[in-house]
Amino acid sequence: MKAVRIHQFGGPEVLTYEDVPDPQPRKDQVLVRVKACSLNHLDLWVRQGLPGVKLPHILGSDIAGEVVEVGEYVSGFKPGQRVLVAPMHFCGHCVKCVAGLQNQCREFTVIGNAVDGGNCELYAAPASNVIPIPDSLDFNQAASVPLVFVTAWHMLVGLAGVRQGQTVLVLGASSGVGIAAIQIARLFHCRVITTAGDEAKLEKGRALGADHGINHYKQKISEEVRRITNKEGVDIVVEHVGAATWEESMKCLKTAGALVTCGATTGPSVSVDLRHLFARQLRILGSYMGTMGELHEVLGHVFAGRLKPVVDHTFPLTEIRAAHEYLANSQMFGKVIVNP
Ligand SMILES: [Zn+2]
Repeated sequence: MKAVRIHQFGGPEVLTYEDVPDPQPRKDQVLVRVKACSLNHLDLWVRQGLPGVKLPHILGSDIAGEVVEVGEYVSGFKPGQRVLVAPMHFCGHCVKCVAGLQNQCREFTVIGNAVDGGNCELYAAPASNVIPIPDSLDFNQAASVPLVFVTAWHMLVGLAGVRQGQTVLVLGASSGVGIAAIQIARLFHCRVITTAGDEAKLEKGRALGADHGINHYKQKISEEVRRITNKEGVDIVVEHVGAATWEESMKCLKTAGALVTCGATTGPSVSVDLRHLFARQLRILGSYMGTMGELHEVLGHVFAGRLKPVVDHTFPLTEIRAAHEYLANSQMFGKVIVNP
């Protein structure tokens, strides 16, 4: 099959479109013909070099496609069926996995991170990772959903325990996690404040359900949040920006509020004033992906049309380098997809 592999870490130039052997599915696996694979910031980090990545390596976490072949031990799937692949690798038999906490498994990794991903034509997945998709979603839309929606659901619902009527600040309206988090917060009838770097993105954030938009280049986030909330602050901050916004995010919390973070796009090192942390009874929650149960839960809302995937741009897999450059330039609103 054709695949994009990296043989060394570096810039977009290390992405190589080439022939590789077809995967040989095990008897408990389903072979999927990849029709679409969405990019995530993780792709850029892995390409630049992360520990645990064995070379050569195939990137790509979010796969949608058609079933080609069904392993002998697998039931419930047939060739030609339209599916997506849950973007997580876990052992399936440890105490965490059997408790449904796959993202706490010691073997847990994201597909395309420490195991090969979907920037290729064929992908062999364990049957438990293969999820049928409705006709209402095309492959590009389906591929744009799993990683960011399960991440946002785990942050807001699983960790922060969002409740109806709360006020939620979602940083980065145009990012995949931002787009998912705005909609999930709305699903819980929350008041949603979001941020972006220009008015067009803020308008799109409002169209997804945000009540207020803050231009982070022109306005100070904490001052605007203070004004919007009548000095009270927000219940939950959805963070993934990191160093550039951390201090502002902490300032935006009301007493006993929760900051939940899943990323550090602008840098990983921040400081915390412990006096504020304990006196204001704040919660700082680290979040990584989510569980299979949470993925099924959030997909239920997507399949029913209550949460909407947003695709910004598609590239042929042969133009993977351009796709990475496009993602790195952060000009998109929504997901970037490659099609094998
Ligand atoms: Zn496990």
